[in-house]
Amino acid sequence: MSHFAARIGALGTENAFRIGEDIARCVARGIDVVRLNIGEPDFDTAPHINDVAIEQIAKGNSHYTDPQGIMGLRTAVAHHVSRSRGVEAEAARVVITTGGKPSIGFTMQAYVDPGDEVIYPSPGFPIYESWITYLGATPVPLPLREETGFTFTADDLAARITPRTKVIVLCSPSNPTGGVLTERDLAQIAQVVLSRTGPDVRVYSDEIYEHILFDGAVHHSIAAQPGMAARTIIASGHSKGFAMTGWRLGWVLLPSMEEAQLFKQLTINSVSCVPPFIQEAGRAALESPASRPVVAQMVSAFEARRDWIVPALNDIEGIRCQVPRGAFYVFPNVAGYCERLGILDAYGVLPPAERARTSPSRMLQEFLLERYGVATMDRNSFGRIGADGQHFLRLSIAASLERLQEGIARMRAAGMDHAGWTEHWRGHQGPRDGQLTPAAAPRRSGSLHPSGRGT
Ligand code: PMP
Repeated sequence: MSHFAARIGALGTENAFRIGEDIARCVARGIDVVRLNIGEPDFDTAPHINDVAIEQIAKGNSHYTDPQGIMGLRTAVAHHVSRSRGVEAEAARVVITTGGKPSIGFTMQAYVDPGDEVIYPSPGFPIYESWITYLGATPVPLPLREETGFTFTADDLAARITPRTKVIVLCSPSNPTGGVLTERDLAQIAQVVLSRTGPDVRVYSDEIYEHILFDGAVHHSIAAQPGMAARTIIASGHSKGFAMTGWRLGWVLLPSMEEAQLFKQLTINSVSCVPPFIQEAGRAALESPASRPVVAQMVSAFEARRDWIVPALNDIEGIRCQVPRGAFYVFPNVAGYCERLGILDAYGVLPPAERARTSPSRMLQEFLLERYGVATMDRNSFGRIGADGQHFLRLSIAASLERLQEGIARMRAAGMDHAGWTEHWRGHQGPRDGQLTPAAAPRRSGSLHPSGRGT
């Protein structure tokens, strides 16, 4: 018997953090790792934002503060929501959180009982599924279809709604696919929600990539659809749009003050409050005219990289990559690539227990990291349930164009390295220590393939 509570076994994780240990092991062995696993901008926070935090600390603004968030930031968020989405918002319904993540858990704790159903996008941010299973609720994945740019139809959603549905999670722009729901999509989804669910069902609309849209698109929220403001929790934050991941600053707009008070209570029970100097800096990020050009410059860098990487990936045999319309990820289909290397065959003959612990895209992800020094994320890192038979990788384009080019060159070479895969896989099946094969992997100072294999 374990000393842990039974529910702990149902708690998931975010592999984008966990893979850090694997990367560190590779680096310790002298491998030059191209990090395309990271879900954070490769830009530093803008100086005008940093300056505010520094000034505030110097002034002694380092005490506990209102657990709901300082009024100045909540007001700035309310204005931002009204301006950017045409949705009515007041500071009294805004709660400031330590990053975008806490409101996912708060939502599940506030609305969902064991046995209730939660519909959520798959592939999607893994923390949705983690909280659903942790709370003993029933996960109902809503498949995002590659053929339609990783969107879903109103019928797909309608087919998953039952009387037990309590929360429907949306994420646009999407992690990991870069798919974006259009205003038309949102109107159709709203129709389904309003006609098929009661007033107690909530839509959790994860809009954390709201600032990162390509091709001149503007952000839309389902909350702007008639009748939806009273049903929708809008969640976002500063991590992505203002390159503030390490600051831990997010916000949520609740449909009612009562719900905002409950989220405040959950904050009191967990972190008490968000540091006030961080909130002041976050207010500057939203209000300062200096922010707009900084964000625009970052987004255009992501767009230029997207424009380079999508054709480059599609040019690799066995890879098919859709064009993301927002966020900073590409999510190529690697089924043909896995097949060509023999990964699908190797997976197919694994004993069932081992098969349950891995997947072809996971096996590919490990091969690319350990043998070629390219860190990516596998499909199952974005929701395991219902993911069988889907072979995708997520690559972050929050890396310089040179590093992206290096990473893609290595992936191209790896795809032809059948012998290297076989050797790697043989090592994998031996003792765990035999996993890394640094002799074949690119050394920190070395060129692409010191082994000469596979190019
Ligand atoms: N939602 C989505 C869709 C995300 O991708 C992330 C971060 N990867 C978050 C929420 C959490 O953001 P934060 O780092 O601000 O907690």
